[in-house]
Amino acid sequence: MDSVPPVPVESPAAERRAERELMVLTVENLAATAGVRGRLAVAPRVLDAMRRVPRHLLVPEEARAQAYADRALPIGHEVTISQPFIVALMTDLADVSPGDRVLEVGTGSGYQAAVLAALGAEVRSIEIIAPLAERAARDLAALGYPVRVRQGDGYAGWPEAAPFDAIVVTAGAPEIPQPLVDQLKPGGRLVIPVRSARGGEDLLLVRKAADGRVTRESVLPVRFVPLTREP
Ligand code: SAH
Repeated sequence: MDSVPPVPVESPAAERRAERELMVLTVENLAATAGVRGRLAVAPRVLDAMRRVPRHLLVPEEARAQAYADRALPIGHEVTISQPFIVALMTDLADVSPGDRVLEVGTGSGYQAAVLAALGAEVRSIEIIAPLAERAARDLAALGYPVRVRQGDGYAGWPEAAPFDAIVVTAGAPEIPQPLVDQLKPGGRLVIPVRSARGGEDLLLVRKAADGRVTRESVLPVRFVPLTREP
């Protein structure tokens, strides 16, 4: 008896592949145009991770149509998530390899955490707004990303899980939090927007050398929602 081949059913996570591809092309073009740090590219493995993460399933329903535009998106609670180019740049600067232990401060939608997890990192993320932490933890688990999400003030880091190969802060900090520098491994990278005198923030790459020496490099002027503190 002839069998009829099953109609392929796309999983929700596989939907909108063409839009993701366009988003990645836009990121590549922006990187080439901006020539950030004299480099004309974002690492291919970062772009590949962004091809795989279904950004539309990590933003609220109202923002879904716009999920793949290269722009920041509102996710409620006066929070916006970064445009894909900035996510790509920060992920590239964090220089994450499979198995790296990574901390994110500012979970928001969970999108940046998912991109880090898609690179094979062991990811922990801290979010100060409880409903956002809960929603991101639920959505990341539903998509199969093994990210540990905790509600709290990420200024203090996650000491029990330290040290980290990389720490990515996705809210604008008044200064570089010393606990985060302390929780970096030798050779570790901290990527953080820090408020500048001009207004807005400078995206900084802070490195801890093998001998413990800390250096910082200013990469790009950016604009983030503020890092707030728990009283
Ligand atoms: N990375 C997120 C976007 C983050 S927007 C994403 O991919 O969707 C910045 C987030 O940082 C907001 O959700 C805000 O509530 C959170 N935040 C601000 N101050 C914080 C703090 N001290 N500790 C942890 N999270 C904080």
